[in-house]
Amino acid sequence: MPASQTFLIVGASLAGAKAAETLRAEGFDGRVVLLGDEPQRPYERPPLSKEYLRGEKDFDAAAVHSAGFYDEQQIELRASTVVTGVDPGASEVTLSSGERIGYDRLLVATGAAPRRLSVPGADLDGVHYLRSVTDADTLRHAIGPSSEVVVIGAGWIGAEVAASARQLGATVAMVELAAVPLERVLGPEVGAIYRDLHAEHGVDLHFGVGVDALLGSTAVEAVRLSDGTVLSATAVVVGVGVTPRVELAEAAGLAVDNGIVVDEHLQTSAPGVFAAGDVANAFHPRYGTRIRLEHWSAALNQGPVAARNMLGKATVYDRTPYFFSDQYDFGMEYRGWAPSFEQVVFRGEPASRAFIAFWLRHGRVAAAMNANVWDVGESIEALLQAGRPVTPARLADPEVDLAELAVSSTP
Ligand SMILES: Cc1cc2nc3c(=O)[nH]c(=O)nc-3n(C[C@H](O)[C@H](O)[C@H](O)COP(=O)(O)OP(=O)(O)OC[C@H]3O[C@@H](n4cnc5c(N)ncnc54)[C@H](O)[C@@H]3O)c2cc1C
Repeated sequence: MPASQTFLIVGASLAGAKAAETLRAEGFDGRVVLLGDEPQRPYERPPLSKEYLRGEKDFDAAAVHSAGFYDEQQIELRASTVVTGVDPGASEVTLSSGERIGYDRLLVATGAAPRRLSVPGADLDGVHYLRSVTDADTLRHAIGPSSEVVVIGAGWIGAEVAASARQLGATVAMVELAAVPLERVLGPEVGAIYRDLHAEHGVDLHFGVGVDALLGSTAVEAVRLSDGTVLSATAVVVGVGVTPRVELAEAAGLAVDNGIVVDEHLQTSAPGVFAAGDVANAFHPRYGTRIRLEHWSAALNQGPVAARNMLGKATVYDRTPYFFSDQYDFGMEYRGWAPSFEQVVFRGEPASRAFIAFWLRHGRVAAAMNANVWDVGESIEALLQAGRPVTPARLADPEVDLAELAVSSTP
């Protein structure tokens, strides 16, 4: 690869920063330009709803690299820089300043943005979304022992913010259309464990109900639910999902379908243009379909894979989907992919809050979540990769070694 080449990365967050790091680690000595519209250097978002929001971790602890890393590695990090256009024909991007930068390879890692609430009052002051460190700083100031926080949406962000707000002493209510938190990913049985967890921590739960309006003159004062309930609020946090930031890709004519469409090499429909992280809807060889993951681990690991492919070192992204969540003293890791399943099997008692849950599809483990049970990741990974038939009884039996289930079929 001639040293005169320019590799551009749009989106200076986890996927983009790990790609830039990998380009250098793989020996690329051309120009690496990392363009991001946020003012900070790249950082990880998981702490924003957890330790950072609670003031237990500072920005440096969340940063992907040390402040000096980008200079040391001769990575041109350009913060507060908005990319307004990509022209794959001319191989250049345009910035909001009008500046154009040509590229030999381009990585689009523009991530995702929170879905907005569209009920009356949604633009009142005191209505928060949580994506950036700036959002977290604003939200942090709105949460304290005298605040009344209403969380709309009991997905991961909503559930984690509710837990952190309770830990900060706020009064918290949670409103969710589904019957339990996290139902879309975890299903009703495991979702119910999270419902009970929040109830035990004093969260006022409103499930199976929507939001009609946010009330207040300039700042939000209350939330009116579709069943007529009115919840008093000094702050509202909206966590109703995210949408991939595909505007640039769409305008550039790249194939887009629930994210930027990429193959198993994270290559888009345009030659020399790659996508990674939350914005990429990537073909996963193990599942034989495209999956768009909104997980820290996908950004962490897809960035490097995209970088290797930018360098022509054909690399497939085929990792098992993985994410984690921490709420109160309940931590978990989830591995696998189970968009549909027949049964959930527990190893350990859910009420004890230390267990492994297995999602079974066609008699095989499609996904597993270890909650407050640690050091089982490798065995679970082996089980998922092996894809062997298993019986619920053996899965549930703590006497049966998980690693053994990965190598021996059902008796
Ligand atoms: C509060 C919070 C908590 C989370 N907790 C967890 C967790 O516990 N576990 C887990 O697995 N995952 C968690 N996640 C998800 C995880 O953080 C994301 O999957 C990850 O950040 C995706 O990284 P990314 O680099 O693909 O995109 P992003 O982090 O979204 O970064 C994309 C970057 O591109 C920039 N950008 C976009 N368009 C442009 C443009 N036109 N010009 C310039 N820059 C642009 C954006 O501003 C942003 O900086 C959490 C997310 C949030 C918000």
